[in-house]
Order: sequence, then C-alpha cells, then structure tokens
Amino acid sequence: MELDLSQHFCPNPDCQDYGKKGLDNITTSTTFGKQKIQLLRCKTCNKRFSERHSTVFSGLHLDEKTVTEILLGLAEGLSIRACARVKGVNKDTVQRVLERARKHCLKVLNQLLKDLQLTECQLDELWTFIKKRILP
Ligand SMILES: [Zn+2]
Repeated sequence: MELDLSQHFCPNPDCQDYGKKGLDNITTSTTFGKQKIQLLRCKTCNKRFSERHSTVFSGLHLDEKTVTEILLGLAEGLSIRACARVKGVNKDTVQRVLERARKHCLKVLNQLLKDLQLTECQLDELWTFIKKRILP
C-alpha cells in the first residue's frame, strides 16, 4: 500500500514540527514485523516512529481487518463477549480495541472512512454505537 506521507506528522512533542502535517519533514525509514509496518522518520528531529502511531491500530498487535471487524461487530450490536467469540479473540482484546476507539473516537472514524472505505451507513452505525455505549 502506498503511504500518503502528507497525512503523517511527527509524534515527538519536543519537535518543532510536532503534530503538523504536510511539511515534507516525514520520510520513510524501514519496515518491521510480520505485517511490514512502515517506520517513518521525522527529518526535523530525526526521531523514528510507526506509520500507525496516530491510528487506532497502534500497539494493538492486531491486523487492521480484525480491528475493523471487531468495531463493526460491536456497532452492529454484538456484545463484547459475542464479538470475541465470533472473531476468535480474547474478550480483553475486544475491550482494548473498544477503549482505543473511545480515546481516538473522531480520528478513528475518519481513518476508517478514509483507509477502509466503510460506507456512510456502516460509519453511521459505528458512530451511533460509540455515542451510545462508549462515550461517557
Ligand atoms: Zn520531529
């Protein structure tokens, strides 16, 4: 998958370009892991970080398809337990995905819409679910 570097920003709070997109300070470094996660580098501060740093997927050790399916399952009304059973993952894993989604709420939804091409309808369901069940 071709990376759109303009959508990434430096996650280092000490960097002068922290959080800014489209400055051409982000470059690709290497890949790691079985899923060939792309490592990126900020040319301003020289720090490396994962392409997933700002997404719901970062640090979850799940592939994007599984995370998405878990979120959609929940959005369609499956309980955490049922969702874990259907997806063949641990209940705690589903809870972690949910917690991640809650924290990243808007970011997650935009990301899902952009990267995974959910339909507006699926996204609506997910949004409704998050508002009803996840947000405090
Ligand atoms: Zn930086």
